[in-house]
Amino acid sequence: MNQELNNTDEPDMLDEYDFSGGVRGKYVSRFPKGSSVIVLEPDVAGVFEDSELVNQALRTLTEAVTRLASVTSAEHRTLIPTKVKLEVWSRDGGKCVICGATDELHFDHDVPGSKAGTSITAATVKLLCARHNLPKTKPGLR
Ligand SMILES: [Zn+2]
Repeated sequence: MNQELNNTDEPDMLDEYDFSGGVRGKYVSRFPKGSSVIVLEPDVAGVFEDSELVNQALRTLTEAVTRLASVTSAEHRTLIPTKVKLEVWSRDGGKCVICGATDELHFDHDVPGSKAGTSITAATVKLLCARHNLPKTKPGLR
């Protein structure tokens, strides 16, 4: 349709970049309120076929990390937001930052006890295994 016109106007224009026949708003309904556009890096995109698979994987990760953190929350009386847990988990590679263990992991907040909750960011939280986390616990807290 407009191909001839475009080809004469812009001789270097490739057909796949010609949006002159595009319909404005055609895909708007695919972006419901609150959805985000996240660009997957090629290695990740190669694993997931569609956004549903990405969402399933992220739900599973979020549930696992949330469960893990609830153990620590009871011990330290600290509520670490899921967003912070996910950031810490990703940054620390899902393992103890001291020995690299991947079992019995806990989120360790640098300011346990009464000050907890005032400055909970990924910078004040780290992943530790039970062997490295528990020695810091005060006997009176348990
Ligand atoms: Zn450790």
